[in-house]
Amino acid sequence: MTDRKAQLAANLAHVEERISAACAATGRAREEVTLIVVTKTYPASDVRLLAELGVRHVAENKDQEAGPKAAESADLPVSWHFVGQLQTNKVRSVASYADVVQSVDRVKLVTALSTAAVRAERELDCLIQVALDAESGERGERGGVAPDGIEELAAKVAEAPGLRLGGLMTVAPLAGPYAGREQAAFERLMEFASSLRKAHPAANMVSAGMSADLEQAVAAGATHVRVGTAVLGVRPRLG
Ligand SMILES: *Cc1c(COP(=O)(O)O)cnc(C)c1O
Repeated sequence: MTDRKAQLAANLAHVEERISAACAATGRAREEVTLIVVTKTYPASDVRLLAELGVRHVAENKDQEAGPKAAESADLPVSWHFVGQLQTNKVRSVASYADVVQSVDRVKLVTALSTAAVRAERELDCLIQVALDAESGERGERGGVAPDGIEELAAKVAEAPGLRLGGLMTVAPLAGPYAGREQAAFERLMEFASSLRKAHPAANMVSAGMSADLEQAVAAGATHVRVGTAVLGVRPRLG
């Protein structure tokens, strides 16, 4: 085994232990939580090693990086999640490789994703990104729709050809009432997820938690955690 593979294996084992412990602590079955490894800034060779180590879900946040990486990894049995802020001019590219778009936060994006998915003859799972710190009608600084916009956006996704409504996603806010209160933030997201499921029973994905706060996300009930640094290492600073 190469040094890099051994390092990734050790990091993955540690993250796996953390997820298992968090599940056990809250009486959840380990299978209720899916690990998504965020590979941004790391090369396609790492995606290949991760796939060999059993990782089946990877995520990226920039199309210009994700597109070539997904193309190089086309033979691997991994699903690609797009988790970054998405401009409509990138949608056609993203729809060609992404299986899940976790950052849907405006109607214009739903329309563009639907057109692109239909054209590519693909079905995209879409999560609505919720900005827990955004005021009514606004979008959050790190993307995401304000909570009072979830319902309208969910209805649009649900009726859009080529798209499936998967559920909700959030990034713990750095500012506002939930700053430093990750678990409270994730519990709030779970409340929104429960009400969403009343109208859309199949929309049962809840994506929350990263390297620093995956325990809080699992405790709150997240079905998907997105972990970068804890598996791949601290990202080199860009720019
Ligand atoms: C980078 C990123 C992650 C992973 O963050 P880490 O702290 O490295 O685990 C998760 N979600 C999103 C949306 C990201 O951009």
